[in-house]
Amino acid sequence: MRRKLIAGNWKMNQTKKDGLALAKGVFEAVAAQKGDFDVLVCPPMSLLGLIADLPHDGVALGSQDVSVAPKDFGAYTGDVSAAQVLDLGASYAIVGHSERRAMRYETDLVVREKAVNAISKGLIPVICVGETLEERESGQALSVVCRQVRESVPSTSTGENTVIAYEPVWAIGTGKVPSLADVEEMHTAIRAEVAALLGQEVADNMRLLYGGSVKPSNAHELLNAQNVDGALIGGASLKVEDFWGIIQTQL
Ligand code: PEP
Repeated sequence: MRRKLIAGNWKMNQTKKDGLALAKGVFEAVAAQKGDFDVLVCPPMSLLGLIADLPHDGVALGSQDVSVAPKDFGAYTGDVSAAQVLDLGASYAIVGHSERRAMRYETDLVVREKAVNAISKGLIPVICVGETLEERESGQALSVVCRQVRESVPSTSTGENTVIAYEPVWAIGTGKVPSLADVEEMHTAIRAEVAALLGQEVADNMRLLYGGSVKPSNAHELLNAQNVDGALIGGASLKVEDFWGIIQTQL
C-alpha cells in the first residue's frame, strides 16, 4: 500500500523571518490534524537547518538539490553534499527539477548521480521528470518522460528509497494542468517503465507524485487519480492556507 506524499517546494523564496513563520504555520496545522499520508517541506538550503530545529512532528524535511560530487566533503564551492543535507535534518532531496534541468543544464546522468548520492546517504530522492510544451504538442511526451525515468533513476532505487515526480514543464507555475486522462496515462507509463527497469515489485511500491499548478481546488481530483501517490507543490506551498487546503483534501 503506497502512502500518499504531499510535498512543498519553496524554491528560492523566503527570508529567515518569513520562512520560519511559514514553516511553523504548516507544522502546527499538521500536528493538530494528522492524516494517513506523509507531508514534506523543502525549504531553500539557507533555511533548512533553522527549520529543522523547530518541532516538526509529522512533517519530513528535504532539500531542493544535492551535490553531484560523490563525496561528503571537499573542494566543491557552492555545493552541499547529501551527507551535509542529512546532517541538517532532512530525509528527502529533490533532484532534477525542471528548473535545474533547463537553467543549470542538468542532464539525466547528472540527475542520476545526484540520486545515487542521496540514496547512498539514506536520503530519499524525489526525482523530477516532465516534458516541455513543445514535446507534448509534437506527441513526444511519453517517450521523453520514459527516457528521463530510464536514465535518471539509479539501479539502487527501490520502492521505499525513491520517489518520482511527474511535472510537465508547461504546467509549472502557469495555472495550466493536464487532463486527468493525460496524468493517468503518464503515471501508468512511468510505473511500467520503472517495472521494466527495476522489477514489478519496486514499481508497485514506488510513489509517483504529480506536480504542476496543484492548488486546493484541483488537489482532490489529481491526488485521487490512478497511479498518483501525492503531489509536489510549488507556488501553493508558500501560504499556509493553500498548502493546508491541499493537505486537507486527503483527510
Ligand atoms: C514545482 O515547482 O515543482 C511546481 C510544481 O510548481 P507549481 O506548483 O507552482 O506549479
